[in-house]
Amino acid sequence: MNLSTDHLAVRTTCAYCGVGCGVLATPKEDGGFAIAGDKLHPANRGRLCVKGSALGETVGLEGRLLYPQVRDAAGLRRVSWDDALDRVAGAWKNIIAEHGPDAVALYVSGQLLTEDYYVANKLMKGYVGSANIDTNSRLCMSSAVAGYKRAFGEDLVPVCYDDLELADMIVLVGSNTAWCHPILFQRILKAKEARPEMKLVVIDPRRTATCELADLHLPVKAGTDVWLFNGLLSYLSRIGAVDPQFIEHHTNGFDAALDVAHADCADPAVVAKTCRIELPLLLEFYELFAATQKTITAYSMGVNQSSAGTDKANAIINCHLIGGRLGKPGMGPFSITGQPNAMGGREVGGLANMLAAHMDLERAEHRDVVQTFWESPAMADKGGLKAVDLFKAIEEGKVKSVWVIATNPVVSLPDADQARRALERCALVISSDIMQNTDTTAYAHVLLPALGWGEKDGTVTNSERRISRQRAFLPAPGEALPDWKILSLFAQRMGYAGFDFADQHSVFDEHARLSGFRNSADDVPRAFDMSGLGGLKHREYDELEPIQWPVRRDAEGKLKVEDRLFKNGVFAHADGKARFIATAPRAPLHAVSEDYPLSLNTGRVRDQWHTMTRTGKSATLADHIAESFVDMHPQDALLSGVREGELARITSGWGAMVARVQHGGGIPRGSVFIPIHWNGQTASDARVGALVNPVVDPVSGEPEFKHTPVRVEQFRVNWHGFVLSRDELNLDSIAHWTRIQGREFARYELAGRNTIEDYTQWARALLGVTDPDADWLEYEDKTAGVYRAVHVVDDRIAQCIFLSPRQDMPSRAWLASLFVKQELSEIDRVGLLVGMPVEKGADTGPTVCSCFGVGRNTICNAIVEHDLKTVAEVTACLKAGGNCGSCVPEIKKILVHTRVEAEEARL
Ligand code: SF4
Repeated sequence: MNLSTDHLAVRTTCAYCGVGCGVLATPKEDGGFAIAGDKLHPANRGRLCVKGSALGETVGLEGRLLYPQVRDAAGLRRVSWDDALDRVAGAWKNIIAEHGPDAVALYVSGQLLTEDYYVANKLMKGYVGSANIDTNSRLCMSSAVAGYKRAFGEDLVPVCYDDLELADMIVLVGSNTAWCHPILFQRILKAKEARPEMKLVVIDPRRTATCELADLHLPVKAGTDVWLFNGLLSYLSRIGAVDPQFIEHHTNGFDAALDVAHADCADPAVVAKTCRIELPLLLEFYELFAATQKTITAYSMGVNQSSAGTDKANAIINCHLIGGRLGKPGMGPFSITGQPNAMGGREVGGLANMLAAHMDLERAEHRDVVQTFWESPAMADKGGLKAVDLFKAIEEGKVKSVWVIATNPVVSLPDADQARRALERCALVISSDIMQNTDTTAYAHVLLPALGWGEKDGTVTNSERRISRQRAFLPAPGEALPDWKILSLFAQRMGYAGFDFADQHSVFDEHARLSGFRNSADDVPRAFDMSGLGGLKHREYDELEPIQWPVRRDAEGKLKVEDRLFKNGVFAHADGKARFIATAPRAPLHAVSEDYPLSLNTGRVRDQWHTMTRTGKSATLADHIAESFVDMHPQDALLSGVREGELARITSGWGAMVARVQHGGGIPRGSVFIPIHWNGQTASDARVGALVNPVVDPVSGEPEFKHTPVRVEQFRVNWHGFVLSRDELNLDSIAHWTRIQGREFARYELAGRNTIEDYTQWARALLGVTDPDADWLEYEDKTAGVYRAVHVVDDRIAQCIFLSPRQDMPSRAWLASLFVKQELSEIDRVGLLVGMPVEKGADTGPTVCSCFGVGRNTICNAIVEHDLKTVAEVTACLKAGGNCGSCVPEIKKILVHTRVEAEEARL
């Protein structure tokens, strides 16, 4: 009987980026569950990108932290929750009594639900009495927050996603939207398909996948955005593309901002030279902007992660204010957030320089509102330590204990080796996490098991201020608890009243009510107001539909929502006016030099998330890009003495790492790009955070992830190799390795400096094959240094190893396909011995479309065989590109390439 289980679907929200897509998790008859996009969710209307689609592959219990543990001389041992929390509370009481409240700190995460975040913030600022709570959101969007606050008086995102479809022009600045916010990018592309006259402009030093579908790409030199937008401001004023009424009645500071813009950027030729772009390209952008009132300028990490990130945000906002381009459909400056709940963290004051409900620590009337509402005994009255400063203070011994929640600073912070040193020296490190082994939990004295996605329940807020429910559909594993609960139990042990929350609903209710408390024009007005959601009944909270704030109730008790802000031209500064900010351009603090001649840019790849503790579990997501890489211009590679496909050591003044050289084609001379994801569990030495300079923006405290001077050199090895194995390997003796999750196996890319005397003995030892009668096929060419072996158990491939002094080794995709076979055929065995597939079409090539598992070779063959001319034809033929669309730019590139090659071959 095939019973439909659709009615059992749980509506929840994706765990990854700030798009905040709605997800349906439906139990299956086999005990698993299916993941699909929620058609009713306004952010994604049923679509999911490949990361969202693969969520089901990341929720298994392998590697989970399931019980509280403490570390003593003998190592980690399991303890009860009472033991663990008593130990932490006892230690914090002593530290606070002896050294004061600023000697302890929380370091939290945009992965937390709003309810968790709210309790953490209340605990530190209202009860411990310190603002030493910062979040990893400091690393991705704090410059955007500071920019909005300076311009609008409060951290207010003026636009909504629908505006992207209503705009006549979208300018994407420092945002590889196609890879990092794929569903938003799909919405933009659909809008452009419907209205081809709509313009898409990309401003990015790299030619990313996003550029493939843009009308105009400005490959500006990293760090020159302020020159570019000051130049635009100056240009708009010169040609009269201004709204004098709006400027006069709704803004302040215009003249000062314009003076500064004119000072350095009045001459487009100078701006073009500084930004290292062609003058006609610059003028084309300026003219387009001037002529297009309905323009959205969307920006993310390329703007924020800079020592001038706040100024960059304000330089953009200035260009919208000058023409009154905000508050109306299809226009406005739009910061796209990176994490699923960066916005929720902003609402509750999760940053060290913010108070709850968008109030300010420095303002006495704000502190009074919050303290009165909380009835709390203490109240922090100055900003706490921001992320980078916090870890410096830990290393210096000023902060004696840090509680790290749902984040992995030993991988993600700049100067990440400093973060490791800080935790090594810290007297008490507490880590609440879902994973047992991370680069950070390795330094924890107390480990506390938290619920993960699918198990926890609460709310998140996406980039357009839309609050959505994340709902549980899996049981709590082991003794794991929700973060809000762990923090509340701890607070009670500290003797603090105000933490007797019955459940996440009661936390949410308090948060919603605080936003409306004394929030009126004649008291302490704030734009952030979700008081309409205060007093929800339990069932109403459980069934809450995605809803934007501000959300209040009208006289009849009906919910009133504002999709778009500043419609009436009234801003949150005391005088109701927006501020132009004078943004004098400045270059990154550390310039490239003879020793470090290249500028390092970091960012995400399409199918991975942050430090891979979750996405690293998915074989689907590992298919696209398996190893960390350093993408660089071929001429820079030549000058550095490295070649594509080889390993290179990349060194900065702060640390070093190893990655494989590639020429993606989109990197300008003088810079390199390295992804942020690989950690100490997935690679021997590929943490790019170790290289990044810990320079921060003076206003926001956001680090400069987009520019660090580095050099690239050969990483010399004697041999290259790889293993596919159903069993885990011990890799202690290997000079460089990367572990990649496969289906029913793990793949290890290896490189060694040792000389292998006896290949058979060495390979058997590495693979742990001790049985002399094991079914072991091997081939060895000692002179060439080539070796391959296959270990077969019960006619199934169990392990295989390939070694060579060169990179020219067999297709991993072909070998991976053998691991799902129940029995190896004779032809498979022949292929394994000769080191290549014997059957035609067996090697599908590296994955391009992760949603449907379509490889590059399959696409190339189909293009030639069926004379495919468009992406739509490729999709019709192979399905590739037909789901989330993230691979469409890549397919487009392959199409052009393959057709040119085929044509050349024909001639
Ligand atoms: S775009 Fe992808 S990663 Fe982002 S929320 Fe949607 S499904 Fe998740």
